[in-house]
Amino acid sequence: MSSAVKSDPNCIFCKIIAGQIPSMKLYDSDKTYAFLDIGPIAPRHALVIPKYHGAKLHDIPDEHLAEILPVARKIALAAGAEDYNILQNNGRIAHQVVDHVHFHFIPKPSEKEGLGVGWPTT
Ligand code: 5GP
Repeated sequence: MSSAVKSDPNCIFCKIIAGQIPSMKLYDSDKTYAFLDIGPIAPRHALVIPKYHGAKLHDIPDEHLAEILPVARKIALAAGAEDYNILQNNGRIAHQVVDHVHFHFIPKPSEKEGLGVGWPTT
């Protein structure tokens, strides 16, 4: 049985999905949304999120996670990124700030672009 999309009216990412807060959209389907991070730690830093609201990975039904990595891959290909990180933080100690599951897509700068800014550096 499929689980319907769940939304929290107080969640900033649910508001982005609903179009109540503007975002630079990269991908949009019935289960998945992707957009540029407002505070990029590298050029083209993006976020891929399930439309199903949940704070941590274990709160999200499998079917709402199924598209996440394929979408991250599409974004990496579209960005022409050779080297990049996909990160997902769960909980404050793990540096999660927004309590709606999100996967960071963080391209690494090319040698031409220099070392870039911020974490991660390896
Ligand atoms: P976390 O530390 O929770 O893994 O990362 C949350 C990310 O969400 C941060 O990189 C932050 O810049 C981004 N973010 C927070 N609020 C907004 C917003 O309103 N719009 C966008 N596009 N990104 C946001």
